[in-house]
Amino acid sequence: MVMWRMKDCPKCGGDFFLDFDGSVLIDHCLQCGYIQSRPKEICPNCNIEMLIEEGDDGEFYYCLKCDYTKELHKVGSQ
Ligand SMILES: [Zn+2]
Ligand SMILES: [Zn+2]
Repeated sequence: MVMWRMKDCPKCGGDFFLDFDGSVLIDHCLQCGYIQSRPKEICPNCNIEMLIEEGDDGEFYYCLKCDYTKELHKVGSQ
């Protein structure tokens, strides 16, 4: 499991964490308890769930079958 922290809670603007384990993503705030699970990313080529990998530039979605990758956007960075 990897997690990172931002000052980005949509409710209170407090510290916001993103946990992920395999393909499950959960955003949560330690201050107000806000929790939001993210939808899984599906590979557009294979129509299967993609995993999350860590790279030099941060985390990204990765398809085991066709090597398709997609940047994982952190909360508040879009
Ligand atoms: Zn909050
Ligand atoms: Zn694929």
